[in-house]
Amino acid sequence: MVVTLQHGHQATMEQIPSAYETALRQYDRAVSRMDIDDNAVEYLRWPQREFSVNFPVRRDNGSIEMFSGYRVHHSTVRGPTKGGIRYSLNVTLDEVRALAMWMTWKCALVNLPYGGAKGGVLVDPKTLSLGEKERLTRRYAAELIPVIGPQKDIPAPDMGTGPQEMAWIMDTYSMTVGYSVPAIVTGKPLNIGGSEGRNEATGRGVIICMMEALKRQGVHNNAGIKVAVQGFGNVGSHAAEYAWENDFRVVAVSDIDGGLYNADGLDIPAVRAYMKANRTLKGFQGADFITNDELITSQCDVLIPAAMEGQLTERNAPHIKAKLVVEGANGPTTTDADDILNEMGVTIVPDILANAGGVTVSYFEWVQGLNSFFWDEAEVVRQLSNIMVKAYGEVAHMVEEQRVDMRTAAQMVAIKRVADALTIRGIYP
Ligand code: NAD
Repeated sequence: MVVTLQHGHQATMEQIPSAYETALRQYDRAVSRMDIDDNAVEYLRWPQREFSVNFPVRRDNGSIEMFSGYRVHHSTVRGPTKGGIRYSLNVTLDEVRALAMWMTWKCALVNLPYGGAKGGVLVDPKTLSLGEKERLTRRYAAELIPVIGPQKDIPAPDMGTGPQEMAWIMDTYSMTVGYSVPAIVTGKPLNIGGSEGRNEATGRGVIICMMEALKRQGVHNNAGIKVAVQGFGNVGSHAAEYAWENDFRVVAVSDIDGGLYNADGLDIPAVRAYMKANRTLKGFQGADFITNDELITSQCDVLIPAAMEGQLTERNAPHIKAKLVVEGANGPTTTDADDILNEMGVTIVPDILANAGGVTVSYFEWVQGLNSFFWDEAEVVRQLSNIMVKAYGEVAHMVEEQRVDMRTAAQMVAIKRVADALTIRGIYP
């Protein structure tokens, strides 16, 4: 079935499991191989808190429109919760739950003292003026005040949000409590306490993981490696840029409207400049225009899905040519596609490892905000690299030891850390 979404975008509907179903299937698969207490297994399957809000926003024409949003805290076992805020028409409580659970595993995997959270508002931000977006963000932030805080739950950007939204949230929170609280959000602009390197961090971490995977496969000639990137937002565009800067041949990129393919490699700075000027990839000269589906099955060595969940499915997985998939997005591969790709011998560097660069530099930003002492970019990149390479090594070790795929291994490392913390803390009361 084909459905038409807002703005005439069309999507093919197939029986893709919901994001939360995927998250739970992955969890069950990992815990089935682990020796952890049944009570802990059951406890960690559930989101700890779910907060739903419905709130009014005044449109520029004076009318009032109601919007719905969520904030889910999956686990506070290892510390305050951390996770992005998404503005998208696909936002559902199910999706936010899944993303919150993945944040718990991601933070534990890179050993940050956080639990997982996620938020979302059901809105297409492209349909809002700047003023409407500000009013929506401030009102959503005001609704979240009971559940967020610098020692409680620290939001960050995700799909459809960025530094500007974080600045509005920081200001709204600060005005409410009566003093500036930079550590209430991460991913802020630099001049109000953001961190050097935060904007690029997720894409940079994706490429650190890609290089680590290739190095372990014995590949040393970057120029011979063809890379395709789905999604050209914060994660995808920076991943494409770092791949290009490291001499990889980036043959394909895409956004929601479709993508570009050039077997000889795209000039990524030119594509970024075109995107900035036109807010779409359509019309860029020097490449063939392809669909997102064609990008996924295009001729490439490395595929980086960096748009959204549920993109690599049972339907397209058998046609994927890449031998390495590095997940920039959260949950881009369904469990059925996972099985097919594993069977085909494709290595998948899972989301909770591959895109952990964002939350890692968010952690650096939070620490810098709490201390009012700021690092230079070289320090951020050095510490980010150390953490990503260490986590990659721990996952690779688990793969060897348990003879499992990288996703299961990554979840096992992460879940063990959370379960150990739960055991030592005990159950309240
Ligand atoms: P973004 O809004 O900046 O970019 C999203 C990109 O995906 C855009 O280019 C958009 O056009 C494209 N897109 C949206 N729907 C699509 C579709 N149906 N098909 C193809 N392309 C589509 O978002 P982002 O921050 O880059 O996040 C992308 C993914 O990475 C999400 O899964 C997010 O949860 C994950 N992620 C983001 C961060 C971060 O720091 N921003 C960190 C970790 C994970």
